[in-house]
Amino acid sequence: MRRMLASIAIAMVACARPACAVSDEVLIGAGHEGRPQSCARYPHRACNLGTAGERALTPVVADEATRYLRERGVRVIRVPADFDGRFAVKDAVFIHFDGSASPCSSTASIGYHRRSDAPAARMWRALYGHDWPFGFEPDNFTSNLSDYYAFRQVRASDAALVLELGELTCPAQHAWLESHLKWEGDEIGRFLLERVHADV
Ligand SMILES: [Zn+2]
Repeated sequence: MRRMLASIAIAMVACARPACAVSDEVLIGAGHEGRPQSCARYPHRACNLGTAGERALTPVVADEATRYLRERGVRVIRVPADFDGRFAVKDAVFIHFDGSASPCSSTASIGYHRRSDAPAARMWRALYGHDWPFGFEPDNFTSNLSDYYAFRQVRASDAALVLELGELTCPAQHAWLESHLKWEGDEIGRFLLERVHADV
């Protein structure tokens, strides 16, 4: 049974050239970007619009990370929340901000589906956490993180991560995040540049 499930999982991410040749490309997704307009095309997915303000901020960070990497010669596939096709890349990140019903009860977090993604998550935690003042939740602290829908469309030879950059419903975190958007994009760019060039 387990073997059958594994082969189904592999088949799900198998993809035809030229759409997804194995490469050292990275894929960057902006959480909730393009919604709600794109939701009608993907009725099998929950149309999660994100926390207040999130949809405006994720593309800013994703675009800056993309700019940072392209300027340094890295090929980037930049996607919104809903996209077609399957991609084989070296690394993938999906950028989000969190929201909480009780403000300031959460902070930054990282999601991934495979144990092999954990070293990249540790690296991001060290890099971002060096300057981000509000700490991290445990990895995969919600099932939305470990079973993020877009993981099914990406085969990452190194790592695929959801990066929740902080809690927008917490005024102190919101203020910090909004005043560091370019830095956040550049930090993600630095992280991906290092992953792409590492021999992993
Ligand atoms: Zn989100």
